[in-house]
Amino acid sequence: MGRLQDKVAIVTGAGTGIGRACMELFAQEGAKVVGVSRTKANLEKVLAEVEKNGGEGMIVPADVSDPDQVQKVVDETVKAYGRVDVVLNGAGVGYSWDQKSPGSMGSVTETEPDKWREVMAIDLDSIYLMSRAAIPHMQKQGNGSIINISSILGVKGNPDAHAYTAAKGALVNLTRSLCSAYALDGIRANCVCPGFIDTPMIQDHISLFDDEATADRLCPMRRAGTPMEMAYGCLYLASDEASYTNGAIFMLDGGTTARI
Ligand code: NAD
Repeated sequence: MGRLQDKVAIVTGAGTGIGRACMELFAQEGAKVVGVSRTKANLEKVLAEVEKNGGEGMIVPADVSDPDQVQKVVDETVKAYGRVDVVLNGAGVGYSWDQKSPGSMGSVTETEPDKWREVMAIDLDSIYLMSRAAIPHMQKQGNGSIINISSILGVKGNPDAHAYTAAKGALVNLTRSLCSAYALDGIRANCVCPGFIDTPMIQDHISLFDDEATADRLCPMRRAGTPMEMAYGCLYLASDEASYTNGAIFMLDGGTTARI
């Protein structure tokens, strides 16, 4: 029996990186997985992999910053599977977004208001929208696990990417508020803060680990984490093994933020 047997899990950002690893691992552990992301072609590849390994799921291409599309994700999930046990909010934009949206990852003096709002909409509003749509179903069921992917930049300041750091910091405290508000409904909310993880989001920076001194400065383990190392942390939070884990800010960063 899998650690998520018969649970229904919505995974956003499921087309690549950490979300993809979560979708694959959650399905392997018996969950029915609903993969959400903007790019349908990526989602189709992940679902094919899930099904090849004997898992079950579906995909809903959607922009998580759009209220109607988020509502549609939850409605389609409930229509197909009758419930929502887990929401893994993995969709987000980070440093690589600057290539698609130049000026989105600067300091406040470098960031125009439209770029600020764009990052906030994707990295923060999306979690409000998904929570708003999914929590009523979790309340009816009397159970639910919400897992928000923040960042080490949600708990530390940074010279650049200020919209990102502000959104990720707000997400940490939104998680604490969710965990306080809905505990008696059987809903747990927790946050995962990844360090440097080898995904498309930081592909332009991953070569920093090739230099030993720089790698040591970035992480005591002198390497980036893998998407699957993040997914195993999320699996714990999604599972009933974490029944008393509520409001945790789970640093999965190889020790980066633990060191002075
Ligand atoms: P990634 O770029 O591989 O994954 C992000 C996913 O979100 C992509 O599949 C993308 O298509 C999707 N997405 C972006 N905007 C969307 C939107 N508006 N609607 C729907 N889907 C959208 O990167 P990742 O590293 O796997 O990122 C996952 C999460 O982890 C993000 O929230 C990110 O901020 C966080 N994180 C990553 C790192 C890292 O080093 N990789 C570090 C800290 C936090």
